[in-house]
Amino acid sequence: MIYLDNAATTRPCQKAIERAEQIARSFWGNPSSLHSLGLAAQLEVDRAREIIADSIGAKPKNIIFTSGGTEANNLAVNSAVYTKRRRGNRIVASAYEHSSIHHKLESLEKEGFEVVFVPAEKNGIIDPKRIAEAVDEKTILVTVMMTNNEVGGINDVARITKLVKQKNPDTLIHTDCVAAFGKIKIDAVKLSVDTLAISAHKIHGLKGTGALYVKDGTRVVGYTVGGEQEKKIRPGTENTVGICAFSAAAEEIIPKLQENFERAKALKKHLAERIEKTEFIKMNCENDFPYTASICVSGLRSETILHYLESKEIFVSSGSACSKGARTHVLASMGFDTKTQDSSVRISFSAENTEDEIDVLIDELINAKNTLCGTK
Ligand code: PMP
Repeated sequence: MIYLDNAATTRPCQKAIERAEQIARSFWGNPSSLHSLGLAAQLEVDRAREIIADSIGAKPKNIIFTSGGTEANNLAVNSAVYTKRRRGNRIVASAYEHSSIHHKLESLEKEGFEVVFVPAEKNGIIDPKRIAEAVDEKTILVTVMMTNNEVGGINDVARITKLVKQKNPDTLIHTDCVAAFGKIKIDAVKLSVDTLAISAHKIHGLKGTGALYVKDGTRVVGYTVGGEQEKKIRPGTENTVGICAFSAAAEEIIPKLQENFERAKALKKHLAERIEKTEFIKMNCENDFPYTASICVSGLRSETILHYLESKEIFVSSGSACSKGARTHVLASMGFDTKTQDSSVRISFSAENTEDEIDVLIDELINAKNTLCGTK
């Protein structure tokens, strides 16, 4: 099997699996229980919170555990809108935000909010100046993802924050770091953002766990009610297994950021070189994020490519997994025509991939073109 769909999810690492088993077997008490079983579980969650906070340069008190990136993003956007509504009704966002933000903003538009979507440049990067230009005195929220999950790119979120706050110090800044966390260094404090979302299953942790970083002084209100957990912002008995496995995955991957980045860089370079030698494949977007490549295979539909490769046990995706194969707004927002959108697939690496796997991928894409388009 060749797995090249790491932006959809990653294989859980051994440390995460072992930690999950340890928690499920030995620390299954309810962290809110006052007896010793509860306390033991609470201490494990506390430790995990410290590790996750540390992995993004934050303090444990700034971390709210959630069910994943989707919930963390929703919590941030909802909260900004709820707490700042009286100050204005304008939201500025990149046009290629993940669906958990994009669809939320579309529903806010229907509620009367004015949402300005700023498109990415051809290289998949958002120009900080274009974001700042869209901000006015009524802007309550700016949301720009650190890295796009379909086309990659590394946005200068620190600069975006600086320019936006210069223009309107009251505007809240959220950044979705789900695709970036575990791949590039994230320092929440240096970025100076108000809120920041991360997810466990993209860094070889388990599905169903994520976190929202909340800056000191930024008010966040939840939309569910219940117990006292997670400062009442995200009540409900903690997912101790997922949270502790998340911290184990972070402990494993964060010290290897640079080493893995270099590996991914070599993989993407190799992919680009092999693509260059074909006449029918091209990279949609050239940028410095090495883990993700959106490629267009002319003459073949994304779904056809995906299933052909799957029959050879090569796994890629036709865009974001969350869109379940439907065309996503990402390539469209960047001005790609429908023909390109419909013939594009996303290749996404982890440090486990090899150049040999890329060779097999390209060979099979050539076979697919020859077999399915009858050019042999
Ligand atoms: N943001 C981005 C950039 C993502 O890639 C994803 C996962 N597809 C999410 C948010 C949602 O995260 P989760 O799957 O943990 O809900």
